Amino acid sequence: MYFGDGSSQNGNTPLATLDVGGHEMTHGVTAATANLTYSGESGGLNEATSDIFGTMVEFYANNAGDPGDYYIGEKLNMSGGYMRRMDNPAADGRSLSCWNSNAGSADVHLSSGIGNHFFYLAAEATGAKTIGGRSHNGTTCNNDTFAGIGKDKAAAVWYRALTTYMTSTTNYAGARTATLQAAADLYGTNSQERYLVSKAWAAVSVGTALPDLGTGAPTPDPADPPSGNALTNGSFEQGTSGWTQSHNITNSSLQPARDGSWYAWMMGYGADAVESVSQSNIAVPATGTPKLTFWLNVSTQESG
Ligand SMILES: [Zn+2]
Repeated sequence: MYFGDGSSQNGNTPLATLDVGGHEMTHGVTAATANLTYSGESGGLNEATSDIFGTMVEFYANNAGDPGDYYIGEKLNMSGGYMRRMDNPAADGRSLSCWNSNAGSADVHLSSGIGNHFFYLAAEATGAKTIGGRSHNGTTCNNDTFAGIGKDKAAAVWYRALTTYMTSTTNYAGARTATLQAAADLYGTNSQERYLVSKAWAAVSVGTALPDLGTGAPTPDPADPPSGNALTNGSFEQGTSGWTQSHNITNSSLQPARDGSWYAWMMGYGADAVESVSQSNIAVPATGTPKLTFWLNVSTQESG
């Protein structure tokens, strides 16, 4: 490998730092796996992948002279102090922190900011932190606040997404789907890790967050079910009680409940899936006119 002199006439050091070296070698990993095309949004993902694992190399090296952080090229003696930063990409005045429909037209070293920003938020959470002696600030595009899953888990999710699900034409929406599938593989469909990955994507304007399953026990409603209703907990106000479900029953405020605050959220994650809620052993009356009724609310973010 040949490394350039980094515009040494400007006082920059040669580009042979831990994160930049890790960045360049990661291009080889990408070329041998997803092979993300080096233009458009896939090019931004290619560059982001190199910044992500270049950063992980820097953390792994654990070198006191160049401790891990989410700045790229902070040891190159550049006039701005760094080449890129992942916690707040737009702070350099050029990189994209949030996805928009023109992201594919930006230089791949600038559209990478969307993926870098996602990774930082998924790993480290929103808000201010000092990491490796440097100030970081996990700003979001939607004013959300949430926790991180840690950089090792975030890197494992990205690596599995890169090597198992991404292809040469994957764009940012596809990267979100790939990481949600990877997080389901590694930590479970119902995991907090997968939920927080979706929160981090939503925070960079890629898709919406998955419903939060919530951990609090709902308050039983004595009027639910109403007398004569053969279903148990028919309007979900007792949470999952009585139901067999595939990660659906929630009190997330992202959608309204028909009554009370609990409901079953089906689909809407930007990916193919099969989901269900069911209950068995329902005693259907032999007399009268038993009916099954339900309320269905359909919403979409897609035009038309
Ligand atoms: Zn690169």
